Amino acid sequence: VKNQFRNFPMVPRVVFGRGCFDQLGDILISRRQHSDAPFIFLVDDVFEGTELVQRIPRIFNDQLIFISADREPRTAQVDALVKKIQNDFDDVPSGIVGIGGGTLLDLSKAVAIMLTNTGRADEYQGWDLVNKPSLYHAGIPTISGTGAEVSRTTVLLGPDKKLGINSDYTTFDQVVLDPDLTQGVCKSQWFYTGMDCFIHCIESLKGTYLNAFSQSYGEKALELCKEVFLEELEPAESRDKLMMASWHGGMSIAYSQVGVAHAMSYGLGFLLGVRHGIGNCLVFQHLEEFYPEGVALFDKMRQKHHIELPTGICANLDDNEFDTMISVAMGMVPLWENALGKDWRKVITSEKLEAIYRKI
Ligand code: NAD
Ligand code: ZN
Repeated sequence: VKNQFRNFPMVPRVVFGRGCFDQLGDILISRRQHSDAPFIFLVDDVFEGTELVQRIPRIFNDQLIFISADREPRTAQVDALVKKIQNDFDDVPSGIVGIGGGTLLDLSKAVAIMLTNTGRADEYQGWDLVNKPSLYHAGIPTISGTGAEVSRTTVLLGPDKKLGINSDYTTFDQVVLDPDLTQGVCKSQWFYTGMDCFIHCIESLKGTYLNAFSQSYGEKALELCKEVFLEELEPAESRDKLMMASWHGGMSIAYSQVGVAHAMSYGLGFLLGVRHGIGNCLVFQHLEEFYPEGVALFDKMRQKHHIELPTGICANLDDNEFDTMISVAMGMVPLWENALGKDWRKVITSEKLEAIYRKI
C-alpha cells in the first residue's frame, strides 16, 4: 500500500527549564511580522492579577485575553474569538500564544487554525480537514498531563460532537516548558490531569496499535508517572518529571491511540460537561476487566494522595441520556480498535457500556 505510514509533524522548537518562561520575549521577537501585527496571548483567567501576567512580554499593540477554563473549549467559542481578533485588528496577527492547561492550549491551537482557514471550527472536527497552514502559535502549559502541548489535535465540544481537529497544522510551532508555572495547581486537579497522562500510557501500552515508537515514549512516561505519584520526590523535581511525563505520554499516543477510558470519558464530557481529567478517572477506576494492572496502580496512587472521586454522577440519568453517552463513546471507532482489536464490537455492547456508566 502506498503511503501506509503516517508522516507526523512534531513540535519543531521547545525550551525546557525552571524559569524559562522569561525567554518568551526573545523567542517571539523573530516571529513578529511588523509592529502592527500583534501577538495575541490567550491566558487562563486563574492567572488574572498574578505576577505571571506582569512577565508576559507584551509590546506594541499585543493583546491579552483572559479565558476561563471552567468549561472545556467549544467550537462556537473559537469562532467568537477569531471574529473578535479579526474585528480588533486590521492586520493579521503575528501569532497566538496559549498559556494554561489543556483547555487553553487547545483553544489556542484552534484559534490559530481558524485565523487562516475559512468557515466555522466545527467544519474541521475530524481527521485532516484543514487545508491551509495555521498562524504561528506557541503553547505554554501551566499544568501537566494532557500532552496537548505535543499533540496534533485540539479537542473541541461542537454542536453535535466532542471531537478533535486532527491535522498537521494543529501542532504548536513553539512550546515553552517551565515547570515552575505549575506551582499553583491544587492537589485534586494535579491528580486528575496527571492521571490523564498515566491513562494515556496504559491505553497506549496495552493497545493493539502498539509499536516500538509508541512504546519507547509510553514506557518512559509511565516510569515518570510512577515516580511522581508513588515515590517521595522534592516538589520541584516532581514538577519537572510530571511535565516530561506529559510530553512523552503525548508522543506515545501520537503514533498509536488512546482506549476505553477516553472513549467513555468523551460520552460523559459530551452529555454532562464532565471535564477530561476527572472524567477519565471516573471511568478508569471501573475498567479492571480491560486494564487490570493499570487499575490496581491507579487505586494505589489515588489512595496515597487521599483523592476521593465523586459518586452518583450517572445516578439520575434517563434511558435517552444513557443512549447519548453510549453512542458518543461507541462512535470513537479508532479508540476501540486500538483497545480491543478489529472485532471490538463482539466485546463492547450498549448493555456493557451502560453497566459501567451506572457505576459512576
Ligand atoms: P484545564 O486546562 O481545564 O485546567 C484545569 C484547571 O486547572 C482549571 O480550573 C485551570 O484554571 C486550573 N489551572 C491550570 N493551571 C493552573 C495553575 N498553574 N495554577 C492554578 N490553577 C491552574 O485542565 P487540563 O486537564 O490540563 O486540560 C483538559 C483539557 O485538555 C480538555 O479540554 C481536554 O479535552 C483537553 N485535552 C487535549 C488533548 C490534546 O491532545 N489536545 C489531550 C488531552 C486532553
Ligand atoms: Zn487524555
